[in-house]
Amino acid sequence: MTPDTSAQEVYIRSPMRLRKLLLGLVLSLTAFVLALVLHTLSGAVVELRQGTEGLQSMETLRLLLSAAEMASRERGPANGVMGDDLPHDSDKLARLSEARRTTDAAFSAADKAVQSAPDDPAKLRAILSQAQSQLLQGRQSIDAVAAEPRRGRSPEQIRHAIAQMFEVIDDLTPATLRLTQVVQATYPKEANLLLAARVAADLREYAGRLGSHFTIALTKRERIEPEEYAAVEQLFGRIDQLHTTLLAHVQNVEGNERINQATAVMQSRYFGSAIPYIRAQLAAGLRDAAYSVDAAGFAKRYVPDMDSIVELRDVLIDEAVGHSRLEQTAARRAAYVVIFLATGTVLLLAGILLLLQYRLSRPLQGAIELILGVAHGLLDRPIPKPRYRDEVGDMLEAIAVLRNNSLARLELEKERQDLLARLKEQASTDFLTDLPNRRGFFELVESTYAMQHRQGLPISVALFDVDHFKRVNDNHGHGAGDVVLREIAQTCKTHLRSGDIVARFGGEEFLLLMPHCQLSAAVRKAEELRALIEQTVIELPDGQTLKVTASFGVDMCLPQDDTLHDVIKRCDEKLYLAKGGGRNQVV
Ligand code: GH3
Ligand code: MG
Ligand code: MG
Repeated sequence: MTPDTSAQEVYIRSPMRLRKLLLGLVLSLTAFVLALVLHTLSGAVVELRQGTEGLQSMETLRLLLSAAEMASRERGPANGVMGDDLPHDSDKLARLSEARRTTDAAFSAADKAVQSAPDDPAKLRAILSQAQSQLLQGRQSIDAVAAEPRRGRSPEQIRHAIAQMFEVIDDLTPATLRLTQVVQATYPKEANLLLAARVAADLREYAGRLGSHFTIALTKRERIEPEEYAAVEQLFGRIDQLHTTLLAHVQNVEGNERINQATAVMQSRYFGSAIPYIRAQLAAGLRDAAYSVDAAGFAKRYVPDMDSIVELRDVLIDEAVGHSRLEQTAARRAAYVVIFLATGTVLLLAGILLLLQYRLSRPLQGAIELILGVAHGLLDRPIPKPRYRDEVGDMLEAIAVLRNNSLARLELEKERQDLLARLKEQASTDFLTDLPNRRGFFELVESTYAMQHRQGLPISVALFDVDHFKRVNDNHGHGAGDVVLREIAQTCKTHLRSGDIVARFGGEEFLLLMPHCQLSAAVRKAEELRALIEQTVIELPDGQTLKVTASFGVDMCLPQDDTLHDVIKRCDEKLYLAKGGGRNQVV
């Protein structure tokens, strides 16, 4: 038996559907997770990129402020040279060219940073180069003043040269403003620190400008003119304003030790010491120009205190950059966590798919195959041992039980069939002679007879009966009668040609069917058999011997015969005639 195709289709289709379902489920979950991750990551990437740009902008801002500061510082040695008589003091010249080199280096560093600035680098470069050309013009004016003999240098010339240097700083302001805005957009929390840093830078600038006014007066050892005084007071006002703003910003930053310390230093050094000192110089300048120091001494006293403002500015920028870096690191870490969790989730899903595949879908497919095999009688397939103590394992065990039950049922069925066949054979066979009995005879010959009769082929029948058999029983016993019957049956079997059928028809009556046999041949054959029986010496169990005879009635089938019974009936009539005619003869 083999499984029919429809059953095979069922077992091929079913697990495929389950597997597809699982695969679909896992894939859609994976897609969902990936979409979520991509969404989160794209946000994180934008944030990280903006963060990087913000940090870059902060560094650029720091470099720009530093360039401005250097340009501002350069004014000190420039004033020194402009206040110096010819021939110039080589130290002062050296200090100026050193300061210029420092400024140039600061500008070129700022220029380099600006080139890769994330936001509109062209604009920033244009601003920077405008400031640089302003710086060169200022330097030319300073050199022109310094080339004149001291007496020939007019205050206007000097002021003009210094004003040009001031403009360098003013030129840079739009760039620092722009960068501050970029940073504010990215790191709003650090905006306060950066604004404070810019205010500190401005404060340093105005403090420098304030100092410059005194340098001129001190150089010429002249009184401070009302016009100049007004400018100085204006600068005091501006510085005061910046000071207030700066303190307001700094007070917003709570608990930052570095900033607090730098602020305290600025408060004590610049506002506590430098401002009173400059006020004293102003008072002298307004009174009688009896200054206690010269220009160089003033610079030596004033400039270091100004540095405390720059230090505060640097601390503020450092803190902003530090905080932003922390934020950036946190954002990056968050992105890594997302990537890690997403990878973990996808791996977990893949694991679940594999697990379901190996522990459910695949064993299920095998189990269905086995069940269908059992259902269709394929009972020799090996049932694998359950690998795990789970439902699939239980199912395999159940299939084994089912298979064993089927095997047992099949065995029983086979035994029943054998028994039936044996019973059927016994019902058709005569147990004494082992010849077919009357029933067996008709079963055997019916189809042969019907076919040959239809085709018009000759069929002959001989019916014979042992003569005076009752006497055998009576004289020698029933057992001897049985021996005689068996002996006659044996004689028939050995004498008959293949195709002939002999049967025990009743007590001591036998029937012989001879297909393809005309009546004359049948009579001849019956005669031969009769003679053979007559000659046969039968040995009895008690050692005696005896001979018996038989009478034959022979006829052949006629076209008008409906059944075999018709010809048998005629044979019986002829047998009766043979008995009547004296027995041991063929009629
Ligand atoms: P006839 O020549 O007229 O045929 O005489 P007969 O004695 O042979 O005929 P009858 O019908 O009077 O006797 C037949 C006997 O055969 C009767 C029966 O007891 C005996 N017989 C029938 N079947 C068996 C059997 O299987 N074994 C033995 N031993 N005897 C049997
Ligand atoms: Mg008889
Ligand atoms: Mg008889």
